Amino acid sequence: MEYTSTRNNKIRVSSAQTISQGISKEGGLFVPCSFPQFSLETIKNMVSMSYIERAKLILKEYLTDFSEDEINYCVEGAYEASKFSSSKIAPVVNVNKNENILELWHGPTCAFKDMALQLLPYLMTVSAKKAADGKTIVILVATSGDTGKAALEGFKNVENTKILVFYPVDGVSDMQKLQMATQEGENVAVCAINGNFDDAQSAVKAIFTNDDIKDKLAEKNMMFSSANSINWGRLLPQIVYYFSAYCDMAEQRKINVGDEINFVVPTGNFGNILAAYYAIKMGLPVKKLICASNSNNVLTDFLTTGKYNKNRNFYTTTSPSMDILISSNLERLLYHISGDNDGLINELMDSLNSKGEYCVDEKMIADIKKYFSAGFATEGDVENTIREQFENYSYLLDTHSAVAVKVYLDYVNKTGDDVPTVIDSTASPYKFSKAVLNAVKSGNINSADEFDMVDELNKVSSLEVPEPLKSLKNKTVRFTDVCNKSDMSEMVFRLLKL
Ligand SMILES: *Cc1c(COP(=O)(O)O)cnc(C)c1O
Repeated sequence: MEYTSTRNNKIRVSSAQTISQGISKEGGLFVPCSFPQFSLETIKNMVSMSYIERAKLILKEYLTDFSEDEINYCVEGAYEASKFSSSKIAPVVNVNKNENILELWHGPTCAFKDMALQLLPYLMTVSAKKAADGKTIVILVATSGDTGKAALEGFKNVENTKILVFYPVDGVSDMQKLQMATQEGENVAVCAINGNFDDAQSAVKAIFTNDDIKDKLAEKNMMFSSANSINWGRLLPQIVYYFSAYCDMAEQRKINVGDEINFVVPTGNFGNILAAYYAIKMGLPVKKLICASNSNNVLTDFLTTGKYNKNRNFYTTTSPSMDILISSNLERLLYHISGDNDGLINELMDSLNSKGEYCVDEKMIADIKKYFSAGFATEGDVENTIREQFENYSYLLDTHSAVAVKVYLDYVNKTGDDVPTVIDSTASPYKFSKAVLNAVKSGNINSADEFDMVDELNKVSSLEVPEPLKSLKNKTVRFTDVCNKSDMSEMVFRLLKL
């Protein structure tokens, strides 16, 4: 398996290079040159497998420069039973009729990012040995909340790596902030920035591709890599749970192998839903991918009109991990849909950079619509959906997952589609206790303290509080730095003690 870049498709690199480098030199994103095919027969065989076995089968098709032992080591380490609060790793729960929830938050930081970021450090260290001759890998992360914590937890004390995380100072929940500020480990640092997620992401991308900074690092035998979903090593593990959810639906006899299902994905940077698209390219029978946005509905507009325009109000919502106006992984979709047209991608991305917008032609948006449908939920919708789903079905959703459920219900109303559907649930409701409690109790909350709210939500719902969140209460705050986005590169040097 070889990989190329969305902005220069003459490039050919191995998976080890793709993962250790993170982003291509000219700023493009790495994509596989082809997609391995999974027949219905193979999928049938996967139904009786464990999550770990399913993961191995998929990974070995993409990591052809890894030995079988290396793949086993990576997958078994990442999804070790003690790290996940569900033996299924990513269980599918039926809520009502065709509405099934794929719970992706049973990992150590209680958000779906763990699904990839428990595996990435293994992939990264194996890749670095093959492709980066012993250099220390410096992971730079821009986070809207969940990636930061999940990456810190995944990379903490991993040999030959350092990790620096930047998050928008007012753009994450109190629980997310506390999770990052109390992070343990010798090789970790965290800094807030005055700005939003897009500011953090743009600055991190600029640092990555800045030759002066790269040279300074190289002098110290260090190199940058990325744990954001621009890194292929983040997307690959996510393909697994689409196959796994499909197999679980078959195992639960909700479908027969070969039947189509829908997936609904609460979307920000387009990584999670892109992994679902890759699963389709590999042969998974899917009718529609439904892209769910919050009030920052730039993707809803794009997927309905073909016009991407980030020049609009930025809203800080109760689903902060989706407060994004520059959706990085869309670039990969555009590359594939356009028939690997790197020239077009350069044009579109230049336009996005200079004018904040781009437009694709009618054929292209029609091709995209064959796979994708889209909708968005307002803040009021999110609140009502959390309350109604809890009152009607005793199922407690977090704010991001509620966006997805609302968009799904709208989709069914509009289309009458009665195909069994799997909705990605991307975070534990306890990560967003304030908003969830507010919804469930219609604003009658007793306390303003984060941990009191967790307790209150636990009393109301009897849903168990995840251990990693409970234990935060007694941890020491280690990181309190805040910097301006223009000072981020300086901060990188300071944190790396260069
Ligand atoms: C990151 C995140 C999302 C968005 O995922 P993308 O891959 O960026 O589209 C949705 N919900 C939660 C809870 C997240 O942490």
